[in-house]
Amino acid sequence: MSNVLEPTPKEFRAVMERVLDFSETVLARGAGARASDSSRIDEMLTRLDEKEPARADLDELLTTLAAAAATGSDHLHPGFLAYVPIAGAPVSAVADYLAALLNPYVGVQWDSPAMVQLEWNALRWMSRLLGYPEQARGVFTSGGSLANFTAVVTARHARLGNNYAQGRIFMSDQTHHSIERAALISGVKPECIVTVPTDANLRLDVGALDEALTDTGTSDEPPFLVIANAGTTNTGAVDPIQEIVDLAHRHGAWVHVDGAYGGVFVLTQHGRRILQGIDQADSITLDPHKGFFLSMGLGCVLVKEGAAMRAAYMAEAAYLSPADDTSSLPNFADYSLELTRPFRGLRLWLALKLYGWEPFAQALETNRSLAVRLHQHLSEDPRFDVPWKPDLSTVAFRLRDRDDAATLRLMKAINQRGRVLLSSTTIGGRSYIRACFLSHRSSDATLDNLLADIRECLAT
Ligand SMILES: *Cc1c(COP(=O)(O)O)cnc(C)c1O
Repeated sequence: MSNVLEPTPKEFRAVMERVLDFSETVLARGAGARASDSSRIDEMLTRLDEKEPARADLDELLTTLAAAAATGSDHLHPGFLAYVPIAGAPVSAVADYLAALLNPYVGVQWDSPAMVQLEWNALRWMSRLLGYPEQARGVFTSGGSLANFTAVVTARHARLGNNYAQGRIFMSDQTHHSIERAALISGVKPECIVTVPTDANLRLDVGALDEALTDTGTSDEPPFLVIANAGTTNTGAVDPIQEIVDLAHRHGAWVHVDGAYGGVFVLTQHGRRILQGIDQADSITLDPHKGFFLSMGLGCVLVKEGAAMRAAYMAEAAYLSPADDTSSLPNFADYSLELTRPFRGLRLWLALKLYGWEPFAQALETNRSLAVRLHQHLSEDPRFDVPWKPDLSTVAFRLRDRDDAATLRLMKAINQRGRVLLSSTTIGGRSYIRACFLSHRSSDATLDNLLADIRECLAT
């Protein structure tokens, strides 16, 4: 009796050949593709809704997948400028395939030491990139939210131990909501979350932070954590990290840098300048699925004093006893909430081993220059308010002297053309359109399409 769950190598090859054909069509779809298409969505949802799995063959299922993927947003499209793009470079698919095929366990070093070494290499490359010392540790996570959570818990444990009921955390009003969520879930009281205003560039106002840390502090409510943003989601604003580190450390607080969007810009000259001081933060979040253009599912958290991270997460279990644990390699399971975990580091390991740093640095430079040029164009046009020069690669703009509805209508009209996809946000009570460039596929043509679509949508 053959076992369908375990195809022969020949049968498996036949499956993979079909998958490869499918991949080729996905990668080859060119000019006609739309950044977003919701025209047939209701029909599609009705077709896909099934209460029990009806058996089908692979060809049929690939056809279904292609049809489903053709509706909604296309994150592979060069014109995807909404939110913070997650571009999905094909190398991620190759790495995920190999990781799933080999299926090693990299949570403890004694199970697959050599695979752990590869994951550890990728993590150390991130750590060195940010200027962290040898004793730094970290883990790859599913994304920035889990990375931020992992760091907040580490900071809480390091600064407050088990007596954390009154600990206060400080962050700017532009901070990603995953930080507040992490704080609340890790036991910080809502009233102990202190929001600090931002300056005219939407960067955390250090004077206001100084006041907040000094004025409201009582010995019962120690400031234990200050968040510095290395690229806010709204506009890519980079907080003055060096000043925040100096100030927070004087107050004995841990500094966590949320670099989910912008941390990777240390690969560029401009980034190194604007992110100065990041190596002095106590922990850092990166999101390689954003700045390294990989597919969804790769975040990273680094802690400068790795021992603090292990102290926060270490727990023992009889059934996990190692035969021999003398290795210098970390047990990642001791540094995070996850026990069983995919071999995520392989994505970064494979990409960096194949391509090196340079293509990533170059693509980041390109994305930043597209944003700078967009900002220039719109600033010269009296119909727009474009208040913030991009620190990284995001531009927020609105129609001048018009209400929010007019700005949002413009965005909708642009998106309907299908060549680019923009998203919106609210800053200071007003609606803004955001264009965030963060894809290795972005080029001059992306910017030209965007500018032409803006022009034409305004003309009609
Ligand atoms: C995207 C983002 C996050 C959340 O990361 P996920 O990978 O979506 O979980 C956190 N902070 C910032 C600044 C981000 O841009």
